[in-house]
Amino acid sequence: MQVQLINRKIREHSIERIKSKREAKKDKKPLDFYAASWANEDRLYDCVGYTIFIVLPTSGCQWAKDSGGCTMCSYIADSPLVDIGCDDLIRIFDDQWDKQLSKTDFGGHESVAVKLFVSGSFLNENEVPLKVQEHIFNKFNKYDNIKEVIVESKPEYINSNSLKHLASLIPDKILELGIGLETSNEQTRLNKINKGITNKSFEDCVKTINDITEYDVRAKAYLLVKPILLSERDAIAESIESARYAKKVGVKRIAYCPATVHAGTLMDNLWKKGSYNPPWIWSCVEIIKEVRRNVDIPMIMDTAGFGTRRGPFNCKKCNSKLKNLIIESNLKQEITPELEEFSCECKDKWLADLEFSDILNTTTNPKN
Ligand code: SF4
Ligand SMILES: [Zn+2]
Repeated sequence: MQVQLINRKIREHSIERIKSKREAKKDKKPLDFYAASWANEDRLYDCVGYTIFIVLPTSGCQWAKDSGGCTMCSYIADSPLVDIGCDDLIRIFDDQWDKQLSKTDFGGHESVAVKLFVSGSFLNENEVPLKVQEHIFNKFNKYDNIKEVIVESKPEYINSNSLKHLASLIPDKILELGIGLETSNEQTRLNKINKGITNKSFEDCVKTINDITEYDVRAKAYLLVKPILLSERDAIAESIESARYAKKVGVKRIAYCPATVHAGTLMDNLWKKGSYNPPWIWSCVEIIKEVRRNVDIPMIMDTAGFGTRRGPFNCKKCNSKLKNLIIESNLKQEITPELEEFSCECKDKWLADLEFSDILNTTTNPKN
């Protein structure tokens, strides 16, 4: 009953937020304002390579517009919330693509991945029309050094025929579908994250992907480290268990996203009231060690936001050192000796937090 009440509050809060954003968007920023791209060294399936990231504006995540969206996500606030025609979307994509090709040594890299973010579901034709999807994939197919194309989608937009069609446009490349599983705990996912994905829908979707044999199509799971209303200890346990579950159901790679508090979200609301803190970086290290040792699956721990006021934190002495060690662990896909042995005086505070968070029944970190 209490959980249902929380869930209702989540929806009311989020829908109100979107309505007011929609009003505020009357300021009409140019669509290009919402696009972005960058590139850096990155871990691909088979080697260390190079990844180009492209963020495209869309009319906004359908799930957020219909249901209020996920409790940690502010993407809807970063979307233009207006209808965008195919020609505009194609022009914006081409601009970002040309920009990356001209400013990076694209041709000098043997193995390149492209990650497309649309702040929603790439496969939902209401968000990204088929004509635009096809234009983008046809463009990628011209480059032999692109080995992986990664897009994101909720399970309800993933079906065998449309996947096969898209994969046929890039027949020699890996097409990876990133799905926001967030956690294997269905109650957490439905009631604390408001994700709207059941375990069954996720499992069916992974099966649909794995049943495609003509092309190399793979499922990736995004896992959120420390959703709202979870203690530090429970957050670690759920994250580790989620990797086991993802591997068991046929996911080929996982990406952990440790929570950063984004403005305007329910997470932000709780954080401002002192009822939520992002995870410790020590918790992320613990997850890396457990998963690399005991779950045989390629895994990345995203370090965006580490050491910032709203992001995962330890102490000023070790935040950036650990961030660099985690990036190195991502590239090598191993627990490096430096990461294994790293220590800092703040570790005792983290251990105390784990020990007492159950007793204090808190999702924040006691400071002393
Ligand atoms: S996390 Fe994804 S599905 Fe959830 S609101 Fe954000 S964009 Fe939409
Ligand atoms: Zn420290």
